[in-house]
Amino acid sequence: MSKRIDIDWAHLRYDYIKTDYRYISYYKDGKWDDGHLIEDDRISINVGSTALHYGQECFEGLKAYRTKKGDIQLFRPDENAKRFASSMAGLKMESFPEELFLNAVKEVTRRNKDLGFTPTYQTEWEEDQYLGGHAVYLRPFTYSESAIGLGLSYSPWVVVVATSVGSYFKPGSKAAVTTNKVRATKNGTGWIKCDANYVIPILAKKEAEANGYMEAIFLDAIEQKYVEEGSSCNIFFVMKDGTLVTPALGDTILPGITRKSVIQLAKDANINVVERKITIEEVLADAKESFVTGTAAGISHFSSITHQDKTVQFGSGEIGDVARTLLTELKGIQYGAIEDRHNWMFDID
Ligand code: PMP
Repeated sequence: MSKRIDIDWAHLRYDYIKTDYRYISYYKDGKWDDGHLIEDDRISINVGSTALHYGQECFEGLKAYRTKKGDIQLFRPDENAKRFASSMAGLKMESFPEELFLNAVKEVTRRNKDLGFTPTYQTEWEEDQYLGGHAVYLRPFTYSESAIGLGLSYSPWVVVVATSVGSYFKPGSKAAVTTNKVRATKNGTGWIKCDANYVIPILAKKEAEANGYMEAIFLDAIEQKYVEEGSSCNIFFVMKDGTLVTPALGDTILPGITRKSVIQLAKDANINVVERKITIEEVLADAKESFVTGTAAGISHFSSITHQDKTVQFGSGEIGDVARTLLTELKGIQYGAIEDRHNWMFDID
């Protein structure tokens, strides 16, 4: 029988902590099995797997929130289910059906819920002020059986892991810097949430941090001119005329679910939103706010952006008005502090 654990939410970082249950399902004989929960957090893997050798694997990330009413809800898991299926198809794997995905993430959340892994509403909100960033993070990922030659994955598995998380960015600097490293290029896999895309962002983010920045910003691979995204988040700019601009989706940008939600919330607030190409020079000359969005990043603002020898400062460095409005709306919906007018939240029961 599992014992309830007490998490030190104030000091929790974005790491893996062992929760009690995870889920596993195998694709065998032409179909996915029903899946089941496992208690062990070690899986036995075949040494020949293409996931191990070539990073031929994809994953998802979504969160469960404790709402004001005291229940636990998932934010837009249907969107994660669709993106997971499209990532798997992009890697030529058998896609995991959306219904199985939804059942799996609900089941893992439900089975860990009474054990202290989910923060209380009070940890996150005080007098209607959003404080937190704590949640249960769910990480579905694929695995594959042996194929040491350069071949496609076959007999894939899906594992869903839950971990309790704190805020994604380290406290301290809010400054961002462009990197000349290349995350994704035309006709590549940038639009797929696959392992292979993350080695370069890890290096770029670590390099940015070593130089005192919070985040690295990727430019397009060919001209190094257009802004694409952060290390694992989409990017937005509030221009001096009040327009909210975000790079248009394409081969090289992950279609973020937070990005899609923020665009909707901005439209609801009568903000003019434009999805288009935007050069780093235009950002340096004309942006008055910038922030990144993601399941892990939430909505995180930048105090400045540096590109080569130029820096643009955003106001006093504190969160700007547009980012604050959107953050309060998004977190309000996720934690049940305001009405879920778009039906984004899913019950786990
Ligand atoms: N871009 C990349 C490269 C990411 O890894 C993520 C995180 N999944 C995002 C953007 C944001 O996506 P989402 O809002 O769905 O978390």
